[in-house]
Amino acid sequence: MDFSGKRVLITGAARGIGLEIARQFGERGAELVITDYDRDGGGKAEEELKKSGFKAGFIPADVSDETQVSDMFKKVAEGGKLDILVNNAGIIIDKLLVRINESDWDKVIDINLKGTFLCLREASKLMLKAKSGKIVNISSMVALGGNPGQANYTASKAGVIALTKTAARELGPRGINVNSVAPGFIQTEMTANLPKANTDMYLAAMSIKRPGTPADVANAVMFLASDEASYITGQTLVVDGGYWM
Ligand code: NAP
Repeated sequence: MDFSGKRVLITGAARGIGLEIARQFGERGAELVITDYDRDGGGKAEEELKKSGFKAGFIPADVSDETQVSDMFKKVAEGGKLDILVNNAGIIIDKLLVRINESDWDKVIDINLKGTFLCLREASKLMLKAKSGKIVNISSMVALGGNPGQANYTASKAGVIALTKTAARELGPRGINVNSVAPGFIQTEMTANLPKANTDMYLAAMSIKRPGTPADVANAVMFLASDEASYITGQTLVVDGGYWM
């Protein structure tokens, strides 16, 4: 898969899965625009990507803030076209349902679901003008079957799947593909402090007996963002070592 001449925006790319997605696009020739609300991390990620010889720029923004997203997209548009958007920024605030307060609920929904919507909406305005584009949203395997302690997160990520399907129906006739990737248990800072009982439970239920890596997820994103996937839209590609079947 070759992304030479393509310009790609990746949210939440200061670290983890987002940064690995940026690296893989860079290795395949894309121009990278990364965004994150972690300014230090985003700056370091930009430096790392540039040192690897990639064309890369960092625009700080909180994806849950409409004004910041709109300002960020103005800068994206000033720099040229946008071929690919990866909505990757996301958080967890894990608690049992009865302990989730309004703020825990709102934060997770605002970043994971509203943030995906805001970036998708702004990106589609640019892509509609070009009559082409690829959007990949990062959901999660737990959106498909639920997960104790993640009522807010599973609701947000199931919303991402429904949003993906509606966007795919609206934008497909205009040359824009919208798909999602649902990662399983992937080793990043997000999962670094999960209780051992949880990680043991995930590993026991997986067919492939190892945690996933950010590269496993990035590989799936590369495919869905590529021309090779031009007849695929509205789909959710599960990358979870066979946890859900
Ligand atoms: P991560 O290591 O925590 O990285 C997430 C990045 O998103 C961080 O750099 C974070 O910034 C940034 N971010 C958070 N809120 C943001 C906001 N409002 N605006 C802009 N950037 C924001 O997580 P990850 O494991 O790489 O996860 C990436 C995506 O995959 C998420 O959507 C996650 O839900 C999804 N996912 C992960 C797993 C897994 O097992 N790791 C499984 C399924 C799905 P800060 O550093 O400042 O917080």
